[in-house]
Amino acid sequence: MSYRVTLLPGDGIGPEVALAMKKCIDATGVKITWDEEQVGEFAIKASGTPLPDRVLESIRKNKVAIKGPIVTPIGKGFRSVNVQLRQALDLFACVRPCKYYEGTKAKTKDIDLVIFRENTEDLYAGIEFDIHTDAARKLIKEINALQPRQIKDDSAISIKPISISGSRRIVKYAFEYALNNKRKKVTAVHKANIMKFSDGLFLKTAREVAEEYKGKVEFEDVIVDNMCMQLVQRADFFDVLVLPNLYGDIVSDLCAGLMGGLGVAPGANIGDEIALFEPVHGSAPKYAGKNKVNPTATILSGVLMLEHLNETKAAERLENAVKAVLKEGKYVTYDLKADRDDPTAVGTQEMADAICKKIAPR
Ligand code: NAD
Repeated sequence: MSYRVTLLPGDGIGPEVALAMKKCIDATGVKITWDEEQVGEFAIKASGTPLPDRVLESIRKNKVAIKGPIVTPIGKGFRSVNVQLRQALDLFACVRPCKYYEGTKAKTKDIDLVIFRENTEDLYAGIEFDIHTDAARKLIKEINALQPRQIKDDSAISIKPISISGSRRIVKYAFEYALNNKRKKVTAVHKANIMKFSDGLFLKTAREVAEEYKGKVEFEDVIVDNMCMQLVQRADFFDVLVLPNLYGDIVSDLCAGLMGGLGVAPGANIGDEIALFEPVHGSAPKYAGKNKVNPTATILSGVLMLEHLNETKAAERLENAVKAVLKEGKYVTYDLKADRDDPTAVGTQEMADAICKKIAPR
């Protein structure tokens, strides 16, 4: 069987890690025609926009895409292409498996959990009102008239919408995953003690969905700050986590740190029809073009893509090759060496080549 997959190399270190991933996927023997498209800074240079329409068209047609990271300007410039992609393609679930690989700088060996982050709502919905704009003034006046707590005139405002339908589909997705992958427990993470209506609705909905899986999958809920502390102390206590967008983003990075850093943490964004795979890390601009960074996170995102394509044997062979190279610790990038200045560290492409060599024949 052959597949057509949209490949978005991205910018910063994106093109390097994407090339490394592509080499490894091709080395498994799975036949993929790569539909390569530019996004981010390269797309701005070529077509004046960071997310050209043809990129969305290609992903809608192929249904499967994999991408490198993309720069998002802070506080100015274009809106995050990542957020735009997730919203435009309705990729409502951000899935991030976190597990221990020998040879990484993991903070604990006892970690094997999967994070399900809601991807379209919450403070990331992109509904914001800048300070001193007509819209912000109007909104502040309206809100101040509606309730007793007064918003100061010199405020900027971000809106946090959380719906029953949005919460229900991510929680259901997490439970279905738990059921199909022999996971024991789903933990809903929230701050419903303070945000009684928005997070409260997420929690109430999660409890209702949990009732449908009673006797099959356990359920509990934990407040997000407590969750962060517990993850550091006893990550092995958790199995599947489901979170609204903002907490999901932060807790994912915490777990990436626990499993050994951004260089090894893979991810996926899944919708009803379309799946987009990407590493958790960003575009690390200071390393761009230096053939220095760790390609593991993007290669493991490729493993998730192969699993999604039902190429489970190829996924296993590639993951085993990654495991072997990590464990051996010889042909690995600087971040995986005990001393980051170790001159024996190899470059991005050399590590990918070592992984390709370790892929078992079919
Ligand atoms: P970052 O993840 O790009 O880098 C932070 C640090 O982590 C790097 O300086 C580096 O030390 C380390 N690191 C990251 N990836 C690594 C790798 N593969 N191997 C080894 N070390 C690695 O985070 P940032 O500096 O906060 O963000 C840079 C840019 O990336 C920003 O514009 C941000 O918006 C964007 N970003 C994009 C995505 C995405 O495309 N999905 C995700 C996060 C951040």
